Amino acid sequence: MNLILFGPPGAGKGTQSALLIERMGMKQISTGDLFRAAIKNQTKLGKEAKGYLDAGKLVPDSVTIGLVEETLGEMGDQAFILDGFPRNVPQAEALTTILNQLHLKVDKTIFLEVPMKMLLGRLTGRRVCKNCGATYHIESKPPKKDSICDVCGGPVVQRPDDKEDVIRTRLEAYETSTRPLKDYYKAKGPYVEVDGVGTSDEVFTRISQALKSR
Ligand code: ADP
Ligand code: ADP
Ligand code: ZN
Repeated sequence: MNLILFGPPGAGKGTQSALLIERMGMKQISTGDLFRAAIKNQTKLGKEAKGYLDAGKLVPDSVTIGLVEETLGEMGDQAFILDGFPRNVPQAEALTTILNQLHLKVDKTIFLEVPMKMLLGRLTGRRVCKNCGATYHIESKPPKKDSICDVCGGPVVQRPDDKEDVIRTRLEAYETSTRPLKDYYKAKGPYVEVDGVGTSDEVFTRISQALKSR
């Protein structure tokens, strides 16, 4: 089963992907994670992407689509979750072409619905492990030991783009570019909207149920 998981920044896509990986053996393709890894390793891709991530703007499609094409090409028959891609209609159209070329298909597109007013709190409170990427939240999911990752003992920090001014730019990019994908996938199907409010386990149960429905 291959999935697209999309929704506004802070909706819980990364959190739910981690649960799908752990409980269903899927592999996550997160363009945000791929860009952050490239920036950390100071690769050519990282140098191209850095300014956009710092500013909270979308990386140009030519760069992003090439990255996804390469990653999907290496996927074999492993079940995957696309997290954070596509993020606009041109990316969605390019994805269709790439999937056809690779003889792959997406079985379901899930939109994770969280009201705008909750997103700011989720994003400003988000903390991530610098080492393994595990995600925490200062209120809903703090690490057991202050600023130390439960999983690997690495330092737990705030993402530089989780500062309030950058968050505003990201939410605007979502409104103008990503939200229109809802209508695109509604028309294209199979598409399902999942309520992202509640505990992570509650949301996961809803996603599991959505995966069983036709
Ligand atoms: P996204 O990948 O969509 O940007 P994340 O999975 O990183 O979102 O979640 C954003 C923040 O909200 C993180 O700090 C995470 O711990 C927290 N979070 C995720 N799911 C929930 C939930 N169901 N309830 C409360 N907080 C959540
Ligand atoms: P979020 O928590 O907002 O869902 P991500 O980790 O998915 O954050 O993305 C972080 C940043 O990476 C975005 O603000 C953007 O600069 C870049 N990015 C990620 N995915 C894409 C994409 N599909 N197209 C363009 N830029 C992207
Ligand atoms: Zn860690």
